[in-house]
This record gives sequence, C-alpha cells and structure tokens, in this order.
Amino acid sequence: MPLQRKPYACIVLGMELGEKLEILAASARCDASFASSGSDRRPRSGGIGAGAPSGVCHSFSGDGRCISLLKVLYSNACRNDCAYCANRASSDIVRTSFSVDELVRLTLDFYRRNYIEGLFLSSGIFSDPDIVMERLIEVARVLRVEAGFGGYIHLKAIPGAGERLLRLAGLYADRLSINIELPTAASLVRLAPEKSGAEILGAMRAMGDAESEHTRDSRRIRHTPNFAPAGQSTQLIVGASPESDRTIILLASSLYRRYALRRVYYSAFMPVAPDPRLPAAAAPPLLREHRLYQCDWLLRFYGFKAEELVQEADGNFPTDVDPKVAWALAHRDFFPLDVNSAHLGELLRVPGIGLRGARRIVATRRQVSLGPAELGKLGIVMKKARWFLSAGGRPLCAPPEEQSLRLLLAEGPREVPGASKPGPGRTVESQMEFAFP
Ligand code: SF4
Repeated sequence: MPLQRKPYACIVLGMELGEKLEILAASARCDASFASSGSDRRPRSGGIGAGAPSGVCHSFSGDGRCISLLKVLYSNACRNDCAYCANRASSDIVRTSFSVDELVRLTLDFYRRNYIEGLFLSSGIFSDPDIVMERLIEVARVLRVEAGFGGYIHLKAIPGAGERLLRLAGLYADRLSINIELPTAASLVRLAPEKSGAEILGAMRAMGDAESEHTRDSRRIRHTPNFAPAGQSTQLIVGASPESDRTIILLASSLYRRYALRRVYYSAFMPVAPDPRLPAAAAPPLLREHRLYQCDWLLRFYGFKAEELVQEADGNFPTDVDPKVAWALAHRDFFPLDVNSAHLGELLRVPGIGLRGARRIVATRRQVSLGPAELGKLGIVMKKARWFLSAGGRPLCAPPEEQSLRLLLAEGPREVPGASKPGPGRTVESQMEFAFP
C-alpha cells in the first residue's frame, strides 16, 4: 500500500490544527481577494523553506506594498446553499472550524516565523450571522488587544450581522469587506436565495457611514480610534449569471461612488459542482475578468465614466482590444491630441499613455517641446500612442481607417494572468494590479 504523505502543515503545527488549516485555507480560496502563493514545494531533508499551500496569500496594502497574509475561514460549515460556492450546505466536503484560541495562536505563530504579515479571516455561516461575526471580531480583538498584534487584519463582514457588530469589527480590522457576489437582485435570488441584496448593501452603507464618522471625529477629537483604515472592498462573480460587462461595471462604479469602496474585485466563475442554475461547466471567463479589471482601473485612475466604456451592442467588452483602445477607436474625432498642449485628463485617454507617462509629459513639456523621440524616452508606448498624437500641429502618424487600426492595436494571443492555475483554488488579486497603458 502506498505511504500516505502527511500534509506539511500537520508536521509543523501538530496533526489536528494542521489538518484544520489545510481544510480551512483551501475553503477560503474561492474568495478573490488575494492571490494564493501556495505551491506544494517541500523542503529537502535538512533543507529550509517550504511553499506549503496552507493559506499564505498576497495582497496589496493601501500604500502599494505587497504583503503576505494567512487567508483562512473560521469555519467552512455553512447553512446557506449558494450555488457557486464550494462550501455550500449541500456540498459533500469535510467540515471543520477553528476555535478563537487556535486561530490566534496560528496567526501569531506564523507571524513570528515571518511567514505572514497579517490575517484575512472569513467564515461560512454556521450559526446566526451575529454569532459568526462575533467570533471573527473576537479573533481580531484578542490579536490586537491581548496579544498586541500590529499586523494587517482583513475581516469579512457576515451578511445579516448587526450594524453594532460591523462598527466594532472596524475598530480591530484594517480592512472590512462584504461580497455582493452577483450583479443583480434577480441573480442573487436565483443563485444565493438565503442572501439579501438589501442586507449586503445595508452593511456596506453602515461600514461607509462609520468610516466617515470616524474620519470626521478624528479631525476634532485627538484620540479617535481608527476605523478600518484600509477601507472596505467587495467581490463580484463574473459569468455565473447572465449579466453583461456593462451591468457589472455600472454596478461597480455605483458602489465606488455611493459607499466609497476602495476596491471591487472580479472573480471569474469556476464551477465547483454541477447545478442546473449555473452555466454548463466551461473554462472560467478569465479574459472577461481581465477586461473588467482593466476597465476598473480606467474608472478609478483615468477619469473614465462607466457609461462611456462599453461600446459593443451586446454590452460586453471586446476580446481583441483593451477597453481604452476600444474607446479610442470609437472616438476618432477626439484625436489627434497635441502632446504639447493637451491637458492631463485628455492625455490619459490616449492608448499607450499611462498615469506616470501622462504626468511626465506634462512636467517635461514645461522645459522642452515634445516630439516622438522625447516621448519614447518618457516611457510612452509609441506603437499605440503614435496613432492618436500630434506635435507642432502635425499628426505623429497618419492613422489608417478604423478596421486596419484595430488590427494594428489588437492584442496577440496572450496568457491571462492566473490562467495557468485553473480550479476553485485560483485566486487573482495579483492580476488586478497591472497598469495601463
Ligand atoms: S454564505 Fe454562501 S458563499 Fe458564503 S460560505 Fe456559505 S454558501 Fe458559501
């Protein structure tokens, strides 16, 4: 009989806690808030270091640093039956839960060993939402208050938990999030019948209100405690329901506006179990997810409005060109822009000019007049930008008619980040942090 290999975490942590960690870290992977750094690389005998897949994931802090987090569920027992979720009540999986003490010990132990810089904690809804939320808060409280833990903590708000608890959670967590999951109430009713859109949006509003109150108070009262200083985020599943990219991006834009969300994450739907309510098993729509992140970037940093970004009649982004190129092709009369006089907001609409490039153009042209040679030195992607710019009243390149230009700007076959790791464990924050051009 072949020898059964013990999970690496069991060797380090002891059998029971190690097994729980293996199970609850795997269960947490469906949440697209972080990119899993796990691999199954083990140390050679006498060697050091291991890439054990036990929930150490990467995220980006508010100041742009990449940080590694222990990403686990408190419990994978859940009384809800969301069709898209591996932990749903009807799933035939091993169920287990940590205790508050176990999770605190695990976090501190990993932190001291330098495996992690913080904790991402969520949970299945194994009981009344308030009770589940209280457990998550208690883990964060013990870490912060009793153990003096200063690392990053991201807590998931449990749908249905009371506002008082959400406000309490923000006193210990750096970031709070609640997943809206599906773009319309109708899809939520169909695929996650126990969840309520109104409840989720209500929680977002409560967390947003609490954040603004704390910000206001901190201007007047010196020792106002911080409330979730990294703000709140949410996740939308793409492809489990029939909504178009336009619907998704309009919703995201409205969430940014109304609840001051710091991030909306998009997660390509990956079938975990057959269900007649879900689309037939197919490859996860990774390119679609990628386009939504590109569009999200345009909304947050490039001054685009959601309403102007999807040009296609079916409401979905094109696959051959990115959303910024698609917008430029549909607005040929906006170009060419004179690189020596266009203002920053206009330059940001030029394919091939990113945020940094646009700022460099504005700063450099105060000293010298810019032409193609100078633009290349400023990091502008000239193979895209040259079709949309002019200098000294003359276009840098005479653009061909639209279809030919589209072919010139089309992306070749490309590997979508994360596409090499399909399956319910693939999570994707790393791919959100690309930059245009
Ligand atoms: S509430 Fe839904 S999404 Fe969350 S763990 Fe339970 S079944 Fe999964």
